[in-house]
Amino acid sequence: MIRWSRWVEINLWALRVNFRALRALLSPKIAILPVIKSEAYGHGLLEVARVLAEEGAYGFGVSEPEEALRLRKAGLALPILLLSGFEKDWLPEIYQLRIIPVVVSVKMLEELGKFLQRKGLSMEFHLKINTGMNRFGIDPEELPRVFEILSKNPHLKLSGVMSHLACAEKPDDPLTQEQQRCFLEVKQVILSQGLKPRFFHLANSAGLIFLRGASGNMVRPGISLYGSYPSFKARAYVKLKPVMTFKARILQVRSLKKGAALGYGPLYRAPSERRVALVPVGYDDGYLRSLSHKGFAWLRGRRVPVIGAISMRCLTLDVSEIENEVLPGEEVILLGGPKEEVPVDELAELAGTISYEILCAIGRRNQRVYRDV
Ligand SMILES: *Cc1c(COP(=O)(O)O)cnc(C)c1O
Repeated sequence: MIRWSRWVEINLWALRVNFRALRALLSPKIAILPVIKSEAYGHGLLEVARVLAEEGAYGFGVSEPEEALRLRKAGLALPILLLSGFEKDWLPEIYQLRIIPVVVSVKMLEELGKFLQRKGLSMEFHLKINTGMNRFGIDPEELPRVFEILSKNPHLKLSGVMSHLACAEKPDDPLTQEQQRCFLEVKQVILSQGLKPRFFHLANSAGLIFLRGASGNMVRPGISLYGSYPSFKARAYVKLKPVMTFKARILQVRSLKKGAALGYGPLYRAPSERRVALVPVGYDDGYLRSLSHKGFAWLRGRRVPVIGAISMRCLTLDVSEIENEVLPGEEVILLGGPKEEVPVDELAELAGTISYEILCAIGRRNQRVYRDV
């Protein structure tokens, strides 16, 4: 068999450690609903779900019915929340797979109500409130209409009320405070109607870490479970381990004479004689082109800079500072590492993006190998 020249290692043990670290920040009464949309941010939907189910997750958040189908086919029986709304045509499948849909508009609530009435079925659902992010959700002013629909239709079982924070990684931002205030107000209004949803939830990773769940009794962490911090400040609150490590083997090493060009552009000319290692990883492997001449890798215990342009299937590293000759076949760490040698946050900053985009891109495009020790 041909060996992979680039691969992603997923450390499921680190995932367990992160889950436990986040758990420890919370009151035991708060349920944890890990968000595993987009192939668990590139880490593998089923593998991640299995481990977190063992660790005591209440259920999972996904964004596509397809993801729920895969989870059910794999035998997962825990609750699954379909976070980003649904299309009317999906309802029979949603019912059959025992998915809990999140209703994000009055129209959707009406459609769900009609479907259940027609079929004579009951279904649990969560209601999403727009507290200021203005994407998904029912505006607080629309609540009277919601109460009217619910009072006329006993098939609709409201089991949760949620919202989403726009910038909880900046906990002092006035918008975060306003969203929390609005959510608590909505909670009071809902309870005053005699409705008793089991869950109120608002917090993503940042809301979990900085606001300890943001006054809800369920939290929805994503990025922190995968070992990346919502912001630098969060490092003072919790210790996380990177779950994903991206490695590759050097294909070739060559010398550049002073003044020699390198790669497309050329974006780089050698300022002095240089040793350059060619790595078979490019933007088609999820290594963002915006890291051209900015990224870095880890080789023999030190950082080596990416020089020149990232191309479709290769990048180049300046290995001149490595003492003994670098040889083809040597492994480099391009992301992650056992001691966070190449922090995803740092790469994201250099690339002008966020860690989420890097993890999704690399994790989904490469062969993943798993370990759980
Ligand atoms: C993706 C998502 C989350 C997870 O956010 P993180 O910042 O990754 O913790 C939580 N809630 C909803 C509704 C989401 O879509």
